[in-house]
Amino acid sequence: MSRFYFKCSDIGYQCSFETNAATEKDILPKIKMHHKYAHGFKEIPDDVMTKIMGAIHEQ
Ligand SMILES: [Zn+2]
Repeated sequence: MSRFYFKCSDIGYQCSFETNAATEKDILPKIKMHHKYAHGFKEIPDDVMTKIMGAIHEQ
Protein backbone atom coordinates (compact mmCIF):
# COMPACT_ATOMS: atom_id res chain seq x y z
CA MET A 1 0.00 0.00 0.00
CA SER A 2 1.51 3.33 -0.99
CA ARG A 3 1.15 6.48 1.06
CA PHE A 4 1.11 10.16 0.22
CA TYR A 5 3.84 12.32 1.70
CA PHE A 6 4.27 16.06 2.05
CA LYS A 7 7.14 18.14 3.37
CA CYS A 8 6.70 21.85 3.96
CA SER A 9 10.34 22.50 3.06
CA ASP A 10 9.60 21.20 -0.46
CA ILE A 11 7.50 24.28 -1.17
CA GLY A 12 10.13 26.69 0.07
CA TYR A 13 9.30 27.19 3.75
CA GLN A 14 11.98 26.95 6.38
CA CYS A 15 9.72 24.62 8.24
CA SER A 16 10.22 21.07 9.44
CA PHE A 17 6.58 20.03 9.08
CA GLU A 18 6.08 16.67 7.40
CA THR A 19 2.97 14.62 7.11
CA ASN A 20 1.63 11.58 5.34
CA ALA A 21 -1.67 9.86 4.77
CA ALA A 22 -3.15 6.91 2.94
CA THR A 23 -4.86 9.04 0.28
CA GLU A 24 -4.50 12.48 -1.26
CA LYS A 25 -7.95 13.29 0.09
CA ASP A 26 -6.76 12.57 3.64
CA ILE A 27 -3.48 14.45 3.42
CA LEU A 28 -4.95 17.74 2.16
CA PRO A 29 -6.85 18.67 5.35
CA LYS A 30 -3.70 18.05 7.40
CA ILE A 31 -1.67 20.32 5.14
CA LYS A 32 -4.37 23.00 5.16
CA MET A 33 -4.59 22.88 8.95
CA HIS A 34 -0.83 23.24 9.23
CA HIS A 35 -0.83 26.22 6.87
CA LYS A 36 -3.57 27.86 8.85
CA TYR A 37 -1.82 27.60 12.19
CA ALA A 38 1.87 27.67 11.25
CA HIS A 39 1.87 29.99 8.26
CA GLY A 40 -1.12 32.22 8.92
CA PHE A 41 -3.26 31.34 5.89
CA LYS A 42 -6.98 31.44 6.50
CA GLU A 43 -7.48 30.11 3.02
CA ILE A 44 -4.60 28.80 0.96
CA PRO A 45 -4.10 30.91 -2.18
CA ASP A 46 -4.27 29.12 -5.54
CA ASP A 47 -0.59 29.54 -6.29
CA VAL A 48 0.40 28.00 -2.96
CA MET A 49 -2.15 25.22 -3.46
CA THR A 50 -0.56 24.46 -6.84
CA LYS A 51 2.84 24.18 -5.17
CA ILE A 52 1.39 21.92 -2.49
CA MET A 53 -0.22 19.63 -5.05
CA GLY A 54 3.10 19.46 -6.88
CA ALA A 55 4.99 18.62 -3.70
CA ILE A 56 2.75 15.77 -2.55
CA HIS A 57 4.33 12.53 -3.62
CA GLU A 58 3.19 8.97 -3.46
CA GLN A 59 5.57 6.39 -2.14
ZN1 LIG B 1 5.12 24.58 7.38
